Amino acid sequence: MGSQLQYAEYFAARAGLTTDVEAVLYDRRSSFQRITVLQTPAFGRMLLLDGAVMVTEWDEFIYHEMLVHPALFLIPEPRRVAVIGGGDGGAVREILRHPTIEHVDLVEIDPDVIAVAREFLPTISAALEDARVHIYHRDGAEFVAEAPAACYDAIIVDAPDPIGIASGLFSQHFYAHCCRVLRSEGVCVLQSGSPLHSLYRQALPRIQRLLRELFPVVAIYLAPIPTYPAVLWSFTLASSRWDPLQDFELQAALERYRLLRGSLRYYTPYLHRAAFALPAFVTELLSRDACAS
Ligand code: SAM
Repeated sequence: MGSQLQYAEYFAARAGLTTDVEAVLYDRRSSFQRITVLQTPAFGRMLLLDGAVMVTEWDEFIYHEMLVHPALFLIPEPRRVAVIGGGDGGAVREILRHPTIEHVDLVEIDPDVIAVAREFLPTISAALEDARVHIYHRDGAEFVAEAPAACYDAIIVDAPDPIGIASGLFSQHFYAHCCRVLRSEGVCVLQSGSPLHSLYRQALPRIQRLLRELFPVVAIYLAPIPTYPAVLWSFTLASSRWDPLQDFELQAALERYRLLRGSLRYYTPYLHRAAFALPAFVTELLSRDACAS
């Protein structure tokens, strides 16, 4: 009996995620990073970038629904959306569920990620074939800096951890241009890492502080992503017009929810409100930074 292949991602001393691996379906370096696709018994197919879990077939619906719908349900009729990163196509799939969507710009620096997602992750990447989707193989920070003002209803930043090629997507310069290219009633949302992850939890209050210099409304919300390091994951929503709780009308959201294309498995209008209720340690983490600034 040959030894069972295993994958592990640790976020602290041998604390993390492990799984048996049935097959390595893809494993090559692109011009930007190592791209790996594993077939696993528990999580289905997993996409790794430089060894870190990006998406798994088993739980990607939680991440992509929670990245997209709290923002789009705030905007009365979202039409033009930009996705920065997100080359697996999951965020685009969720955006296109909204019947008012007319145009999606996907700005993914690495064309190989899109090609691999198309080949190995069709349930996640299928929406990339939609005629309303326009794909740019560009650095997201450069793309947004060159985009015209007030041209998007929403910007969804689906970037990896704030290191390497993605570090520019966590800068004040990038956020300032996101603010500039959003329409006045627009919403920006970004994955802001885990408040429990010892390495990255300080990114969350820093992101909040930078966005608060640009947007009157900055709100953090949480969701559990079982295959992400430390599991508890945060998202940061910023807007010059909408408050995710005060401007969220449950009955109107329930009406829109019924009109979405396809059914959601995680996000609901009831859960929308609950997601913004933060645990005491997260409120403390955020207020500690506010005091420090
Ligand atoms: N959900 C994942 C997470 O939270 O880590 C992110 C998934 S998505 C695959 C991240 C994508 O961002 C990758 O495909 C990567 O190539 C892309 N990316 C990284 N830096 C970028 C940049 N500066 N501009 C555009 N895309 C970038």
